[in-house]
Amino acid sequence: MSKRLLLVGAGHSHLEVLRRLTEERIDDVDICMVSPSRYQYYSGMFSGYTEGLYATEDTRIDVRQLARQARVHFIEKRAVEVRPKQHKLICHDRSVYPFDVISFDIGSRSLPEHLEETQARTIKPNYTFIEEIERIRETTHPLVVGGGAAGTEIALSLHAYKEKQGIPGNVRLVTSERLLPDTPSWVSKRMESLFEKKGIQVWENEKVEEVDEDYIMTGKGNKIRHTGVLWLGGAVSDPIFKHSDLDTDDKGFAHVESTLQFKDYPFMFGAGDCVTMLDHPKLPKSGVYAVRQGPVLADNLYHFFKKEPLQEYDPQKQALYILSVGHQKGFLIYGPVSFCNRRAWKMKNKIDRDFMKKYK
Ligand SMILES: Cc1cc2nc3c(=O)[nH]c(=O)nc-3n(C[C@H](O)[C@H](O)[C@H](O)COP(=O)(O)OP(=O)(O)OC[C@H]3O[C@@H](n4cnc5c(N)ncnc54)[C@H](O)[C@@H]3O)c2cc1C
Repeated sequence: MSKRLLLVGAGHSHLEVLRRLTEERIDDVDICMVSPSRYQYYSGMFSGYTEGLYATEDTRIDVRQLARQARVHFIEKRAVEVRPKQHKLICHDRSVYPFDVISFDIGSRSLPEHLEETQARTIKPNYTFIEEIERIRETTHPLVVGGGAAGTEIALSLHAYKEKQGIPGNVRLVTSERLLPDTPSWVSKRMESLFEKKGIQVWENEKVEEVDEDYIMTGKGNKIRHTGVLWLGGAVSDPIFKHSDLDTDDKGFAHVESTLQFKDYPFMFGAGDCVTMLDHPKLPKSGVYAVRQGPVLADNLYHFFKKEPLQEYDPQKQALYILSVGHQKGFLIYGPVSFCNRRAWKMKNKIDRDFMKKYK
């Protein structure tokens, strides 16, 4: 009898699994993908879309179509619980999918649960991106919360959009640390100067304590007015693993071994933002790693069914980041190296377009 593999989420690693399946089948295995949207939106192109450089179709991959080419049955649903002992996945509409092997690549969220009923919005999960960005970029005083790569880049792109469209007002950013806290401090200083030059107001080392309809309050007592809050304060886990009583880190991301297998269940795999590697617990939640885990995950799924030894994923020591800062300029960061110019943006544009081409 044939076995069943469930792929949950259409994240970067699973795109690679689908691509491999278009080339080579796994014998006697029925494969289904469960994901809440037929499209996978690529965050590398979020800044360009925000600024108005890319169209919707540039930013997304039609997963249903890719799945069809890979002979994978696509199910447009959101997974809410997994019962490993019974080999069952439960979806938001309480439908139940049995499996022999399951793999998760469901990414992360940005909005903490306690803010869900407030005015704060976000663009993760990524299928909410277009609607939320289109709403906030038309407002006069959008406020971005979070000064990491995502928050910084989106604030700069919102600013560029407003300039081009002649929308009055200004972009504001509040962050609990310095801008780009994971880079050397001189890189943060450079980014601060860029924000100052562009007239984007920044509050560093300030925690947002309260989100109200037209203002936020910080821990230091600053009341900052806004016409919309975009929350990009770092990766938050989907509640599925906690609800399913699986072994997770303190933020709810599932623990996996270097083979990308769940700690207690070798027939469960996971990659991308939704997992934390036991051997590399500090690995950033970044698309770079989700992309690199893809080929290892794909190989291991093939090997697992064939009962062959699995590969280990060994993350690269340093990753290249190029942030779009508006008007086709890029801010490149690679370890201690950093510069800001048009060439960097061109490089980013090429990397992102090549990535999309591979899966379209
Ligand atoms: C504005 C912004 C810009 C960024 N730019 C970059 C960048 O330039 N470079 C970089 O390396 N990183 C960047 N990141 C980080 C990057 O987005 C994430 O690290 C990356 O998307 C993680 O990839 P993933 O494959 O884990 O998940 P995702 O790409 O988030 O994909 C998750 C998939 O799972 C689906 N899904 C979600 N929940 C469920 C569920 N419950 N059940 C089933 N399916 C589900 C989603 O629909 C989606 O298809 C950026 C983030 C933001 C917010």
